[in-house]
Amino acid sequence: MTLTDVIGVLEAAYPPARAESWDAVGLVSGDPAQEVRRVLLAVDPVAAVADEALEWGADLIVTHHPLYLRGTTTVATTTPKGRLIHTLIKNDIALYTAHTNADVANPGVSDALARAVGLVGDLVPLQPFADDPWRGLGRIGEPSEETTLEEFAARVAKGLPRTSWGIRVAGDPGRPVRRVAVSGGAGDSLLGAAKAAGVDVFLTADLRHHPASEFVEAGGPALIDAAHWATEWPWLDSAASILRESGVTVETRVSATVTDAWTRGY
Ligand SMILES: [Zn+2]
Repeated sequence: MTLTDVIGVLEAAYPPARAESWDAVGLVSGDPAQEVRRVLLAVDPVAAVADEALEWGADLIVTHHPLYLRGTTTVATTTPKGRLIHTLIKNDIALYTAHTNADVANPGVSDALARAVGLVGDLVPLQPFADDPWRGLGRIGEPSEETTLEEFAARVAKGLPRTSWGIRVAGDPGRPVRRVAVSGGAGDSLLGAAKAAGVDVFLTADLRHHPASEFVEAGGPALIDAAHWATEWPWLDSAASILRESGVTVETRVSATVTDAWTRGY
């Protein structure tokens, strides 16, 4: 298989045209004509992931987060990103990113998150595209039976990979939970949509004190804030399945290296 073949599968699932205008998705390094046998999937393009790729003999790393979201004037080894680029190029490892185009895809990042925390049945976008009601940001779904915020939070903690500080919950622990909205990654911008949707809980990451406090005070849904990395990690297996089921004969591996920025909780 060539890198072009693999990219073809990824771009059919995650069309780059659906990425946000500020985003930087697609091929970051590598030659489209190079051969690809092993694909490592990871959330972040960081040194630990490049080391893992090197050790396993990966030809391609597919990450969710872009390496360069803004422009750069150097890839010298004097910067962490430059060092990463050097490691990749010297070892013929390509790097490809599917970011906001994977967020809005169906199935996308939030579908995988919803399934990981036990939501069943149809999942509908929290903020659908005007031209496509089955694609867009976030997902709304239901647990298999009515539960409480406390029990649902326990399921979230169990369903997501462990991180240093686990999850944080805002709201009455006994609150009934029938409908849940989820959004992988930083979901601040979807607080209004979660409230308008009338869900019981909104699960996302990177929530800040003031918006969260005001939201709960105003009677909005309960909030569950998980580690950013943990909310996006379930998508890696979904993307790996798409590659495996596409007919491209590549070996896939999902990186289990925790690359969340927060490494200790006390
Ligand atoms: Zn993210």
